Amino acid sequence: MDAVPSKRILIVEDEKDVVDLLTLNLRKAGGFALSTASDGTAGLTKARAESPDFIILDLMLPKMPGLEVCKILKSDPATRHIPVLMLTARAEEIDRIVGLEFGADDYVTKPFSPREVVLRIKAILRRGNAEETQDRLSAGPITIDPARHEVRVNGKRIDLTSLEFKLLRTLMQRRGRVQERDRLLNEVWGYESMIDTRTVDTHVRRLREKLGKAGDIVETVRGFGYRLREK
Ligand code: CA
Repeated sequence: MDAVPSKRILIVEDEKDVVDLLTLNLRKAGGFALSTASDGTAGLTKARAESPDFIILDLMLPKMPGLEVCKILKSDPATRHIPVLMLTARAEEIDRIVGLEFGADDYVTKPFSPREVVLRIKAILRRGNAEETQDRLSAGPITIDPARHEVRVNGKRIDLTSLEFKLLRTLMQRRGRVQERDRLLNEVWGYESMIDTRTVDTHVRRLREKLGKAGDIVETVRGFGYRLREK
């Protein structure tokens, strides 16, 4: 008999091959109890009924698209804390997936490496458990209050995803110092290996957009990474 599974993962995907591949690899990794749904509506129902620790959600699903499922889950206080990893075959959707409107925690593009998916799931689950500093920080017009998960620009509240928030906080904590992309991936995303540093670029771009004019404080250091300007 298998060891007692510690984390419950719901896989919402209509392609049987993909479900089988994920199931096989997650079983091999160990420590997960799996549940599956093959369309968006069933996925939403199961997510609510089972309240899993993690959801792998395909973008293209029968009955209800993955982004819609994600949006509903992330706007419901009962399910919004559940991390969502989106599977997508369409690179052009990535910006929207990681954006505030759908609130997914991460994504992978098909065809994906199952090993990478397992690593990402572990990283996201670890990130959720990590203890975080509660000190208030400010830089120019930007202030963040980690305890309340609040970001303000000139006193006006800005909505950030949890990743954008963590990215901003990390940059603010190390103001003036260049943060390399792979280091950010490691510390903000929790990835042990360098998977895809473009992920960092995508999130930085979104973060800048949301900060508006104040976003200029996040500087690109070509060939290295990012830095929060000193003044
Ligand atoms: Ca699909």
